[in-house]
Formats: sequence, structure tokens, C-alpha cells
Amino acid sequence: DIRPVRRALISVSDKTGLKALGRALADRGIELVSTGGTAAELRAGGLEVRDVSDLTGFPEMMDGRVKTLHPGVHGGLLALRDKDDHVASMEEHGIAPIDLLIVNLYPFEETVARGADWDDCIENIDIGGPAMLRAAAKNHAFVAVVTDPQDYEPLLGELSAHDGTTLDFRRKLALNTYSRTAAYDTAVSTWMGGALDEAHPRRRSFTGTLADTMRYGENPHQAAAFYTDGTNRAGVATARQLQGKALSYNNVADTDAAFELVSEFDAPACAIIKHANPCGVATGATLLDAYRAAFDCDRTSAFGGIIATNRPLDAETAKAMAEIFTEVVIAPGYKAEAQNVLSAKKNLRLLVTSAMADPGEPDLMVKPVAGGFLVQDKDTGRLDPVDLKVVTERQPSETELSDLLFAWRVAKHVKSNAIVYAKGGATVGIGAGQMSRVDSTRIAARKSEDMAEILGLDAAPTKGSVVASDAFFPFADGLVAAAAAGATAVIQPGGSMRDDDVIEAANTAGLAMVFTGMRHFRH
Ligand code: 5GP
Repeated sequence: DIRPVRRALISVSDKTGLKALGRALADRGIELVSTGGTAAELRAGGLEVRDVSDLTGFPEMMDGRVKTLHPGVHGGLLALRDKDDHVASMEEHGIAPIDLLIVNLYPFEETVARGADWDDCIENIDIGGPAMLRAAAKNHAFVAVVTDPQDYEPLLGELSAHDGTTLDFRRKLALNTYSRTAAYDTAVSTWMGGALDEAHPRRRSFTGTLADTMRYGENPHQAAAFYTDGTNRAGVATARQLQGKALSYNNVADTDAAFELVSEFDAPACAIIKHANPCGVATGATLLDAYRAAFDCDRTSAFGGIIATNRPLDAETAKAMAEIFTEVVIAPGYKAEAQNVLSAKKNLRLLVTSAMADPGEPDLMVKPVAGGFLVQDKDTGRLDPVDLKVVTERQPSETELSDLLFAWRVAKHVKSNAIVYAKGGATVGIGAGQMSRVDSTRIAARKSEDMAEILGLDAAPTKGSVVASDAFFPFADGLVAAAAAGATAVIQPGGSMRDDDVIEAANTAGLAMVFTGMRHFRH
């Protein structure tokens, strides 16, 4: 199944390594055919090249929109060499067989990334390139197709080893090619969806561009990779890594959770994440205040955590962070001294983002299930304080209200059932991922008691706190447990059949309670 290569069509936007490739192919006696820019570059390298217009009998036209879309090219790519009528058609119409296609596409993704306008993006949608790639990949029984400059070397190695290409090699190239054309069209659809403000799951497609392979997935026996979706959003996918080992699968997931959470706040804020849940979140007058308060929520769990801040990291905060082992820090910048402090920690991965995330920006969330995947709008729900309904005899005080709103924002980022106690703009107890709400309420309170011991306090930090629940309390027991832990005010969606019982329990305990009418499940 070795196929000889006599004629190669080369049409590339990315001209990296082109001359060397052209030279190596020409040296093997392969005839080169090219489109305008590619041919010019090859000729500048002293190579003999045939123009593609020679094959089509047409000049390249319409600003390059039509160059290779012609039977003279596509017949040469698609003809089955072992089928008499195909061969007869080639002969009858003077179609030259093409054995090797080298194409890389107009840089659509890069054009979007540099913020080009609508017309510019449209003009950068390659038409003839994908058409040729798909044709050659379909006919991989006879044709080798390369779209990634990284495959130039393996191609030349293959040609040297076999004086042609093996079927196995051509199949792998065909697969690469269809992955590329699928990702390319997805990039177009993602961009167009964004540009038209059309986020509905029904009108979007989902593939990404392979950005990174990882050593393993959630566990060492699982293979894993990281794909980017072409949106170029500020966050873990586009962050620059300043030091440390490569990010693991779990690192990426947790870093994303940390950064998205801390992006919710305007004041200096810090979040520490473990296993996708925050174990401490705080705002403060300074980043150092915020970090200390976040750390004090659950010092035990913070060990080996992932930290995000919403301000460039300063030296003082970096020093405080350096006191314990942390896996990743992600921040929108680092003061020089802060980076110096942390550079001593060789295993710490430092990431810097171009900006903060916009929690209100629409996006789609994809969740796999056996045989498919679920798609939904991202939870961009944000509470307008005027929509809050006070349902108890007592109104929340101003301080309580501000802590309630803080706790509510954090609860959105905690796995359900989520219970968040907060005081002074900091969490003081987080209960996550329990199957019953009352358990989350109790676990958070118990952890706060542990912290009282560690910090040498007389009372658990939940005393005098407020509490947020991501969904309604189905029974009064959860609320009663929160009151017992010392919470004085509650924020929750409301809407339970037993709301009356829950309100009565709040009144009995002297709590203030507000209903949001909005739920923040997160699974
Ligand atoms: P060159 O720099 O050689 O002038 O153009 C190379 C680029 O043109 C490649 O990215 C290739 O995918 C693209 N291309 C080749 N044929 C066509 C065509 O018929 N229409 C369009 N729009 N692009 C083409």
C-alpha cells in the first residue's frame, strides 16, 4: 500500500518551513504546484513551481476567493487511481493526478483573536483550502494530505523510508485533517454566534482545538487533553504560565473554578479552591486582608489548594501565601517582588491572565453523559438587591445585607447542596456537595468550630454570621441548624411547599430572612 508521490500541490497561509519543505520535495523529483503567494515564496527560494492556474485554466480571482475550486484540482485529488472510468475521465479532461496535498488555512482563529471586525473575519474564512483538505483526506487511499507544519518532518521521514507514503501514514494524516477542518468550522460558528449575540445551544457546535495533552486525567490511568474553544476568554485557557510544572487535569478544573469565583467581586478578593469547591473566599480592603480571611475560613483544607486573586499580586500577600503549600496561583498580574517571593517555590505554578473574567458574559456549559452531552447557558444569574423579598418580622441590618449578598455570590460557585456562612465580607463556613441540605448546614458549622479551636477563639466564627443556601430549605431543620450555629440572617430562593414552616422557624429564632426567587444549583 505504498503510494509514490510525483506531484504535490502546496497552498499555505503559514509559510513557516515552506522553502525547506519545497526544496526537499523537489530534490526527490516531485513536481510542485502552488497558489499565488506560496508559489512566489517557493520561487524566491530558487525552486521551480507550476501555477495552479495552469491546472485550472483560470486565473485566481475575486480577491483569492476562487483559486483552486475547479475540477482541474479536485479531479486530481479525488480520482480513484484504480478505477478505469476515473482514469479515463482524468485523461479525457487533461486532469493531472495530485499525490500529495499540503495546505494550511487562512488564519481565522488568529484574526478573531486580534479583535478584527466582521468583514475582516468573513474574508478570513478559507473556502478552497478546506475543500481541498477534505477531498484529499477522503481519497487517502491514494493521496497524502498534510495541514500542520509540524507534520512536514514526519512526511519527509516517510518519503525517505518508503520512497512514497504508506496507507497507515495516510490514514493518520486524513484523521488529523478532518479534526482540523471540523475545528476550523467550529471556530467560525463560535465566532459568528458571539458576534451575533446568539448563544442558544441549538445553534452552536462543539469541538475545540487541541491545546495541550496532559500526563493523565482525573486519575493516573485516564488519558487526558485540554482543548480551547476559540473564544480567547480571560481565564485558565489563555493564561500565561510563569513558573512551575505543567498544569494537570485537576489543576485546570480547579484553577478555572477559582478564577471564575474571584471574578465576581469588585473589591480586592481571594478564593482558595480544593476539589472544585471553595474552602475560603473573602473580600478585603487589601488583597492581604482578603487572603488572610479566606485562609482562616478553613486552614486545614487550604493546604495544597489553588488560589485566585482579582488584583495583581503584591509581595506582602505573596509572602503570606508562601507559608503553606499551594498548587497554583492565578492572578491578573504580579508585582516584581511578589514573583521573586514565589519563585523560590519551585513546585508552585504561577499563572497570569490578561484580564478578569466577566461573570455576566453569556457562554455555554457542556456536560457529558453516556451517549451524548448536555448543553446549557452558563449561570450568569445576578441578583438585583431591589428584587430581594424580606419574609421575616425582622429586616436584615445593612451589615447583614451586605454579607448576605456576598454569601449568595459565593454559593453560586459551591457544589450543591451549598451552604455558605459569611461575616465581614468573608466566608466562615462552607458546606458543599452533600445530598441533604441539613448536612451541608451542619458540616459547615462543624468545620467552623474546628477553626475556632485552631485560631484559639472562644466561639465558632459562624456565631453572628449570615448564611446563604443555593436552593430553598425543603424543611425547617436546615434553618434551625444554621440558627444554632449562630447565623442571624438567611438568604435563599424560597419556593418550598413548606416555606411557611421555614419562615416561622426564622421568626422564632429572631432571624432576618430574604428570598431571592433565583436558584444557583451547581453540580
Ligand atoms: P497563497 O498564499 O498561496 O496565495 O494562498 C494560500 C491560501 O489560500 C491557503 O491558506 C489556502 O488554504 C487558500 N486557498 C487555496 N485555494 C483557495 C480557494 O479557492 N479559495 C479560498 N478562499 N482560499 C483558497
